[in-house]
Amino acid sequence: MNALRFEIKAQCGEARAGVLITRRGQIETPVFMPVGTAGTVKGIRFEELESADLDARIILGNTYHLWLRPGVDVIRAAGGLHRFIGWDRALLTDSGGFQVWSLGALRKISEEGTEFRSHVDGSFRFLSPEVSMEVQAALGSDIVMAFDECAPGEASHEETERSMNLTARWAKRSKDAFKQQQSESADTGRVEADELSGRQALFGIVQGAGHLDLRRISLEQTVNIGFDGYAIGGLSVGEEKSLMFEVIEDIAPRMPGDAPRYLMGVGTPDDLVEAVARGVDMFDCVLPTRNGRTGQAFTSRGKLNIKNSQWANDTRPLDEACCCSVCRRHSRAYLRHLYMSGEMLASILLTHHNLAFFLDTMRGVRQSIRSGDFPKFRREFTDSNKQQLEV
Ligand SMILES: [Zn+2]
Repeated sequence: MNALRFEIKAQCGEARAGVLITRRGQIETPVFMPVGTAGTVKGIRFEELESADLDARIILGNTYHLWLRPGVDVIRAAGGLHRFIGWDRALLTDSGGFQVWSLGALRKISEEGTEFRSHVDGSFRFLSPEVSMEVQAALGSDIVMAFDECAPGEASHEETERSMNLTARWAKRSKDAFKQQQSESADTGRVEADELSGRQALFGIVQGAGHLDLRRISLEQTVNIGFDGYAIGGLSVGEEKSLMFEVIEDIAPRMPGDAPRYLMGVGTPDDLVEAVARGVDMFDCVLPTRNGRTGQAFTSRGKLNIKNSQWANDTRPLDEACCCSVCRRHSRAYLRHLYMSGEMLASILLTHHNLAFFLDTMRGVRQSIRSGDFPKFRREFTDSNKQQLEV
């Protein structure tokens, strides 16, 4: 039995609209997944994520952060991450590979895994495919990511090739360890799901930085091991945006057509629309939440910086085209006042609107693919986003 069922309902060029059926509900794709690093999507309550305003069907958890704090034992004792945080919908957890990679000089990579110093208490920790699979089983997430190594965006061919081959060996070890965890019933999130096995799904990650030949080899290596879904990792890590889209355009259409395709850690709303046009189904990014906390709103007319004095007396909503509860109720002037006064509500309201904007954009993308109007949607979205509201 499969852990997932993925049905493509409509296609418009390379863009696909589908339904991803998980053990915890159906997710229409292309989908944006809000990031809940430490068991919380920062600045927003779960009720709001579930509300019709946002209706987020799947969120992310972060293996590295949750493993270091509060620790696997606490979450296992609580009955898994869903119960610990109070969220019944689907959860995807990353493998921790990217966070460890981003520690830079603080980590040491070997064939066995990665040794690094915890940012929480300074202790030495060791993360490997086996440890990552054990932690993700204890978290009980519905989609588990293989443990990978990420080469820097501008890495040389030789360095990238070494890293990519290590990722392939780690992917195989991830799958073996994952199967072992499933056979030992270590998955705390196991549920009986209609027509599905109820087990966790495991996604493999394609690496290879900006080198298309290596990207294609990495894809072949990953597909040969065999996963429930496939991700493109190692993008948006310092490379030129044009190179990022070159990689997506070359690799996404070559990925198995009957499995979900996930672009990790990307990007702005127009990046999402452009990646959908190249065949991607799933996205996550910290931008809507992180930028919400620093006073930046994403709108249908580009980015709006709420700190700007030009909004001091502006009674219009953040985005006149947005139907979210923040835009229905509050003015730019009020949001600016909250932000300038250091009120926590500023972050909360901006985060809410930004998530609504990302999720609503994806709703528009899905509808336009289904109705065959995606090229028009894409053109209008890009044109309107060029009108920057900020100076
Ligand atoms: Zn809004």
